[in-house]
Amino acid sequence: MDKKNIDWSSLGFGYIKTDKRYVSTFKNGAWDEGALIDDDMINMSECACVLQYAQTIFEGLKAYTTEKGDTVVFRPDLNAERLANSSRRMEMPVFPEDKFIEAVEQVVRANKAYVPPYGTGATLYLRPFMFGINPVIGVKPADEFQFRIFCTPVGPYFKGGAKPITIKVSDFDRAAPHGTGFIKAGLNYAMSLHAIVTAHKEGFDENMYLDAGTRTKVEETGGANFLFVTKDNKVVTPKSNSILPSITRRSLMIVAKEYLGLEVEEREVYFDEVKDFAECGLCGTAAVISPVGKIYDHGNEICFPSGMEEMGPITKKLYDTLTGIQMGRIEDRFGWVRVIK
Ligand SMILES: *Cc1c(COP(=O)(O)O)cnc(C)c1O
Repeated sequence: MDKKNIDWSSLGFGYIKTDKRYVSTFKNGAWDEGALIDDDMINMSECACVLQYAQTIFEGLKAYTTEKGDTVVFRPDLNAERLANSSRRMEMPVFPEDKFIEAVEQVVRANKAYVPPYGTGATLYLRPFMFGINPVIGVKPADEFQFRIFCTPVGPYFKGGAKPITIKVSDFDRAAPHGTGFIKAGLNYAMSLHAIVTAHKEGFDENMYLDAGTRTKVEETGGANFLFVTKDNKVVTPKSNSILPSITRRSLMIVAKEYLGLEVEEREVYFDEVKDFAECGLCGTAAVISPVGKIYDHGNEICFPSGMEEMGPITKKLYDTLTGIQMGRIEDRFGWVRVIK
């Protein structure tokens, strides 16, 4: 298969239109067959539920080339399951989980020329999403929906090595105690835009959100979960039902325990104890782990011993092991890597 003539290593994280996308429509109480199409534009009523009341959810995963030359995706079954959970909370029909995985495979196969070669650091980012499309003016869920998957090639997240970032404790809240923080819904991002633009203006890379109820416990950032490492090498991640369950974070906790033999804890993490941790990282599909060097909290700074130059040693081991499994350099003990033939 000939690859597209793209300078893979200079790609950023932006949208590039590829050849094919998948669409399935839900109408009269049922999903249709679904198909790959060429048209990247969507025609809808000005009164579509998604436009008026933001009834939309999404997923994100990557296809890439392993050392052996296989085209693969990582744990797509968990994306299928998470989208189903998001659907239920948003009064949307569940797209069957097995059909989700089939659709992912179809999109990757049809756009194989856009899957970056091994060693470039680039990947093909897949964006499954679903939204209410029929006109709705009185507040209620739509009854017609589209499920779609498009893909776009994206560059290596860390160009020239993973430099630790600086984050601030946000004055805004991300998710209410009984709200929608645990699902991947566009609405959670809409309300985070002001907070992230504000943080960037102030010179910070990201926001750390605390629990909205008491403002004493660590939740997550706008789009990544936290991992901390204690001074005695225990890996700790916050537990809360308003955190989005990151597939990367869940995988890293298994890597820590089963591959590295480290102790792991998923528990409430009070902001007060963050100053005592040795390392801090943010987990998500895009970067796998972004190391955090410094946290700013209203005039006080927490500087992790790992510093502002490199990832902490445990964070680095976690990063190298998970990316090693993904790229086929380390044994995939749990069948996480799915080859697309
Ligand atoms: C998508 C997302 C993450 C990361 O999840 P992954 O499955 O690891 O990509 C973390 N937090 C939020 C709020 C997210 O939307």
